[in-house]
Amino acid sequence: ESLKRIQEVDGDVRAFLLVDEEGALKRAKELDEKYSKEGTRGLLASLPVGVKDNICTEGLTTTCGSQLLANYQPVYNATVVEKLHNADAITIGKMNMDEFAMGSSNENSSFSPVHNPWDLSTVPGGSSGGSAAAVAAGEVYFALGSDTGGSIRQPAAFTGTVGLKPTYGLISRYGLVAFASSLDQIGPLTKNVEDSAYVLQAIAGHDRNDSTSANVEVPDYLSALTGDVKGLRVGVPKEMMGEGIDPEVKALVQKSLATLESMGSTIEEVSLPHSEYAVATYYLIAPAEASSNLARFDGVRYGVRRYGENLIDLYHETRSKGFGPEVKRRIMLGTYALSSGYYDAYYKKAQQVRTLIAQDFEQLFAKYDVIIGPTTPTTAFKLNERIDDPMTMYANDMCTIPANLAGLPGISVPCGLSNGLPVGLQIIGKPFAEATLLRVAHAFE
Ligand code: GLN
Repeated sequence: ESLKRIQEVDGDVRAFLLVDEEGALKRAKELDEKYSKEGTRGLLASLPVGVKDNICTEGLTTTCGSQLLANYQPVYNATVVEKLHNADAITIGKMNMDEFAMGSSNENSSFSPVHNPWDLSTVPGGSSGGSAAAVAAGEVYFALGSDTGGSIRQPAAFTGTVGLKPTYGLISRYGLVAFASSLDQIGPLTKNVEDSAYVLQAIAGHDRNDSTSANVEVPDYLSALTGDVKGLRVGVPKEMMGEGIDPEVKALVQKSLATLESMGSTIEEVSLPHSEYAVATYYLIAPAEASSNLARFDGVRYGVRRYGENLIDLYHETRSKGFGPEVKRRIMLGTYALSSGYYDAYYKKAQQVRTLIAQDFEQLFAKYDVIIGPTTPTTAFKLNERIDDPMTMYANDMCTIPANLAGLPGISVPCGLSNGLPVGLQIIGKPFAEATLLRVAHAFE
C-alpha cells in the first residue's frame, strides 16, 4: 500500500530521497515468517517508516540533504533505527530535508524542495519537511524527524500532522548526524497522538552509546491517553500570542484553549520575559555548534571527495562545492561567534541568555503543568516566498526555539484550518513529561 501511494504521489510531493522497495519487501516477508514462527508481533509490526536522511541507516545512503554526502552509506544503524527494527517496523526509505537540518521550508535541500500535500505551491516546513509531508500525503503512517529549533513541530504544524520533540536526552542521538549537539533531538511525526505514543514507546530510553542520553525510566505512554484534563493548569505566554502571530492562528489556538477550559482545565496568561531573545540566542549557539560539528566533512573521511592541487585544495574544493549557501552562512556565523575576541561577546553571552530562558520556564512550571501557544506564527507560506530573506525565515521559529534552548519536550497538534491550510497548537511540558503532553494533546482529538 505504502509503495503504491509513494508511486502515485511522490513525483509531486518529493518527500523521499530514497525508496528502498526491494529491501522493504524482503523485510516484510521475513517478518511474516517470523510472526508465524514465534506467534508474536512487535509494537510496530510491519509498519513502514520513513527515516529522515540525517539518521544513519546501515547500507542505505544518508545524505543529510547535501551534495557533500550524496554517496555516504553508513556502516551502522542509529540507535533509533535499531529500536524501530526491534519493534518490527520496516524502513521504507529516507526522507528529504533541509541540508544538514538547517532551514524552515525544505527549500535548502540540495536535491529538491518538498511540496506541501495540502497545497503543492506551499512549503511543508522544515527541516523535517519530507518526513511531515510523507505522513500528511499518506505515503507512510509515521516518520522520524529531528528537531534542533523546531524542525519536527513546525513541519507538523504546516502539514496537519502530530510532531513530538522529546526532552533532551530521552531519545538517543547515536547515529543522528549532529547539527547542534546541545539542541538536537529525534522524534516522531504521525497522523495522530496515539500513533505518536506508540512510536515514542518504541524509541525512547537510555543508550550508553550517547553520553547525553538520560538514564530515566520510560513510562507507559499509551496508558496516558485517558482524555482527562480536569484540574490541568495551563499557562499561555503572552509573548507567543502577541505581535507577529497571525490573527487567525491566534483565534484557533484560543478556541482550543476554550475547549480545554470547558473540560475542566484552568487557563491563565503568563510571561516568558526572556523569550524575545530566543531567536537571537539560538542563531549564535546553533551555528557555533554546527561550525564545529561540520568540520569533519573535509572530503577525507566522509562523502564526496573533490580533488585539488594539494590537501588544502582538496578541503577547499570539497567544502566549497559540497555545502550549499545556508550551510556556509551558518559555518561562517558560528566560526565568527567562537573566535577569540568575539567568544565572550557573542557565544558566552548567548549561553547566559539561554540559562535565563530556561529559568523562565522553570519558574512557570512551579505553578503550571503545561505551556500552550501556537506552534508557528503563520500557516505554510509559498515556495520561493522567503528563500532570499533569512531573517524572516529565522523569525518563523520564534515559538519553537525556546523549548530547545531549555531542553523541554514540545508537541504540535493540529487545531483547525485557516484558508484551507492547517494550524498547529504547541504544548510544552516539564522535563520528561511526555506522558502529560500526549494526554493533553489527545484531549484535542
Ligand atoms: N529552522 C531552524 C534552523 O534553521 C531549526 C532547524 C531544526 O530544528 N533542525 O536552524
